[in-house]
Amino acid sequence: MTHIHRHPVHCILPPHMLEAIKMRGDAKQRRMAERIEKEADAARKARAAAAPERAHLGTPAFAGPAPALPNREVYNGGYKRELPGRLVRKEGDPPSRSKLVNTVYDLTGKVFEFYLKEFKRNSIDGQGMTIISTVHHRRKYSNAFWNGRQMVFGDGDGVLFKSFVDLSIIGHELTHGVVQFSGGLTYQDQSGALNESLADVFGVMIVQYAKKQTAAEASWLVGEELFTPEVEGDALRSLRAPGLAYDDDILGKDPQPYHMSFYVSSCTDYGGVHINSGIPNHAFYLLAQYLGGYSWEKAGQIWYQAMQSLRNPKATFADWADMTVQTAWQLFGAGSFEMAMTRRAWKLVGIPV
Ligand SMILES: [Zn+2]
Repeated sequence: MTHIHRHPVHCILPPHMLEAIKMRGDAKQRRMAERIEKEADAARKARAAAAPERAHLGTPAFAGPAPALPNREVYNGGYKRELPGRLVRKEGDPPSRSKLVNTVYDLTGKVFEFYLKEFKRNSIDGQGMTIISTVHHRRKYSNAFWNGRQMVFGDGDGVLFKSFVDLSIIGHELTHGVVQFSGGLTYQDQSGALNESLADVFGVMIVQYAKKQTAAEASWLVGEELFTPEVEGDALRSLRAPGLAYDDDILGKDPQPYHMSFYVSSCTDYGGVHINSGIPNHAFYLLAQYLGGYSWEKAGQIWYQAMQSLRNPKATFADWADMTVQTAWQLFGAGSFEMAMTRRAWKLVGIPV
């Protein structure tokens, strides 16, 4: 395990999409993709030089009667590389003149509320951690990322991508933080794909929570608002139909598998973490459909509690599937419908438990 793997920067745009843009985009788009790759590289190095990840704090102790309150800070990056930038709105401040700043403030508040109300988790680390966001990061920057301490959003190039401020993306990035503070999942191969998958699963659940949509009503898309009308595609990823989120002249075709038979062994993207995440993503989608109602009421509870109990940063898909079935047993009882459906969901994506 190299040093770099322990200190990933969690970008929302998968490397395979940047490769496609470099291959098929015009000169300007190619330069953009190259710039983003360089930026991700620089951020990764900066993160590697920063303090190591905090140790696992166990299941968050929050259970007390005092209401936990969010503590948000939104910064304006001023189109520069430096982070976090200039503080423009902190907790309790009146709205800023910038609509984008207010949107980030409101959406991060929604993510905080979701974790608190539905999982009794007080912020990202379970201990009331300040939620820090920077908007207007660099010029026309087409990415968003969690760097271990904060979220960072680009405005997009305006040609392929709109602003990266989107609830599913915010939920995704903050959940990388939740995973990090729940014992972590090494960002390589299957454990890395699980890390990506948990970020997607909670990202779409937060959207469903905000829109009060049942599992049957929801779109199950990550980054539904991200593409400009120029792009042929619905979103970055689909949990309902991995592999069918987009099919575009420049971005190429969504490469995600939905079944273990199509697992991709890759030397890039930490072993295809943004690709193979399609498999556990689809298992969660299936379970939520089987159980019906709101995804966070049962399926989400199983996934969240399994994340808290896992304590295995190198978990494989099979380890994780096992833990979710065990958790369904603990939450709903042996021989319960929920436990049987959890097992069935994994079986249908090629992971028998
Ligand atoms: Zn991610």
